[in-house]
Amino acid sequence: MFLNELNYPVDRIKGIGTETLKDLKNLGILDIKSLLKHYPIRWEDRLTSSPISSGKSTGFVNTLVKVIEHSYIGFGSKKTLKVLVQDKTGYLSLICFGRNFLEKKLPIGEYFYIYGSNIQYKFSELQCSSFEFEKYIPDTEPKQFNKLLPIYKLSGKLTQHNLRKFIYSSLVLYGEHVTTELPRSILDKYNLIDKNRALEYIHFPMDHKILSIAKKTLIYEELFHLQLITGKKVINRDVKPKTKKQLSTKLQERLINKLPFDLTKDQKAAIEDIIRDLNSTKRMNRLVQGDVGSGKTLVALLSAIPIIESGGQVALMAPTELLAKQHSEKAYELLHSVGIRTAFISGNIKSSSRKILLTELEQGNIDLIIGTHALFTQDVIYKKLDLIIVDEQHRFGVKQRMSLKDKGDNPDILLMTATPIPRTLTLTLFGDLDVSTIKTMPVGRKPIETHLSRIGNEEKVYDFIFKELIKGRQVYFVYPLIEQSEKMNLKDAQSMYENLQKIFSSYKVALIHSKVSEEDKENSMNDFNSGKIDILVATSVVEVGVDVPNATVMVIEHAERFGLSALHQLRGRVGRGNHQSYCFLIYSNLLTDDGKKRLMTMKNTNDGFIISQEDLKLRGPGDIAGIKQSGFMQFSIANLVRDIDIIELAREDAFKLLKDDPGLLSQENSSLRELYSVAPPFSSNFITLG
Ligand code: ADP
Ligand code: MG
Repeated sequence: MFLNELNYPVDRIKGIGTETLKDLKNLGILDIKSLLKHYPIRWEDRLTSSPISSGKSTGFVNTLVKVIEHSYIGFGSKKTLKVLVQDKTGYLSLICFGRNFLEKKLPIGEYFYIYGSNIQYKFSELQCSSFEFEKYIPDTEPKQFNKLLPIYKLSGKLTQHNLRKFIYSSLVLYGEHVTTELPRSILDKYNLIDKNRALEYIHFPMDHKILSIAKKTLIYEELFHLQLITGKKVINRDVKPKTKKQLSTKLQERLINKLPFDLTKDQKAAIEDIIRDLNSTKRMNRLVQGDVGSGKTLVALLSAIPIIESGGQVALMAPTELLAKQHSEKAYELLHSVGIRTAFISGNIKSSSRKILLTELEQGNIDLIIGTHALFTQDVIYKKLDLIIVDEQHRFGVKQRMSLKDKGDNPDILLMTATPIPRTLTLTLFGDLDVSTIKTMPVGRKPIETHLSRIGNEEKVYDFIFKELIKGRQVYFVYPLIEQSEKMNLKDAQSMYENLQKIFSSYKVALIHSKVSEEDKENSMNDFNSGKIDILVATSVVEVGVDVPNATVMVIEHAERFGLSALHQLRGRVGRGNHQSYCFLIYSNLLTDDGKKRLMTMKNTNDGFIISQEDLKLRGPGDIAGIKQSGFMQFSIANLVRDIDIIELAREDAFKLLKDDPGLLSQENSSLRELYSVAPPFSSNFITLG
């Protein structure tokens, strides 16, 4: 167990009052433990000397100087102090904007350590207006110099100096209670250090080498814990076998034959994988990943049939009501004719109808129920829930996904996602997941043509849209905002809805976004589906799943404001039928480099795998929907992309440990700490800080 002292509220530290407490809370710092875990975002190198002569090329100095002269530039109240200093290599002028009081603090003839950045050669001298200094006292270690100075994320009125002091005090007072959780053998294997040392050195490293060891230790530890949890899941899954089934696929085949098209090769393979899993004694935990429009939802529905034929129930969860509703209509269309009883449940239905629905479900009169996470609230009782399908699983949070686990008796689980992630990450995040990949697109699909268009050229886009509308096609317009915002000068869905009605006056336009009532949303969606509405103006609510094959144009305005995966998902709303489809990305003049890269990626490829790789590169894994949602992202120091090598090592080590010591499987993680914790002596030689 973590010793209690580390759980003490952070205001045990001297100097932390109510105001500071609030600022710390904003940073997620509540107790000593979280204070110690507030790692620096970077370290300022005040160790390596950087003399004035090199300042011109490097832009910064870190050196010991003597004050030579005071002078003023400008006049009256606007005059600014200029302090000329000198080191062994040259002269530098410190420009003290708004800091004329420094005249007293930097007396002529005295020596100071200075750290200055933004050094510029101006008016034939080297100048610096952004600098920090500390008085040189012979035979005394400086407080802020000669070291790697930690720089922290701040909040409110907190200063770097205060935060350093608090962290320093907590290390001195409570550092000895930090125990090493990693097995000694692993520390030795990778030359890692004890946890308390690692904490000291991550905050106050003596040099680069010790800093890198501290980092490595903490990263490894974090990933090792992650892999232990994963490993336990993997091993425990095999412990509780299912009874072997011999499911009939007769009905499934009948329905496949009735489809107006052939399944693609990969759809067939995925269905085969799923049937094999369902029949085996191991509980299924399979992820089907495939690009938008590759036909995953159909695979999901078809997979439900053998379970239902054998008398089991299936629950299909979708991330939005809109999508759930659409699935339930599709399911009804597909399955009703063969006597399968489907139902739709939402958080919004009246309690009287809900009651009836729940009774039917409990009595087994519903075979396939479709809904949002409302499917798994406590009062929903299943008679025989054998299969849970989660569509667009990357959209769900951990909590929502966890709520599934309590339903049914160890049901099989099938996850669908359009956000493919690299295999190592998949293994890490889901541990025990088997994966089927749908790469082949249904025949007849034409790649979507993507055009980039600068704001101001919308006319051309509108002209083009008229031509599509005349052919009877439908169009989406997507905006980043629902309503006009004073803070941002952006087009919004509401105003553009009004605008577009005027521009396309002979066509029917509808508006949907998250503030529109479920009922109105549903009506608009139904009308768009049936072709009664030609143009749908929306926010990213249409991002997932919406399937209207007759829609051929997707216009995204302020496209630079959307992430890559959102853009790809949005574009995936068109190109779902046999008609050539188009995506117009309208961007504003203010493009960042990353924004440019995102748009170019969209223009250059339709391949979701390439796009997700690019996304990973541009944003790091934290922002990628699926990973963020997985709940494993509360890393304080590890990074799933950068630390991929350590992930693999930690995985091997953790799995080996579990194999060698199966007793661990039934233990809570905290017991692991007890088993392997060694309390090393508190090191006394770490640097002092004022
Ligand atoms: P996803 O969920 O992968 O985005 P969907 O399952 O919604 O894709 O399928 C997109 C569209 O393609 C739907 O209209 C679906 O009926 C259709 N579809 C699915 N599989 C095929 C296929 N093999 N051939 C032709 N159309 C298909
Ligand atoms: Mg889908």
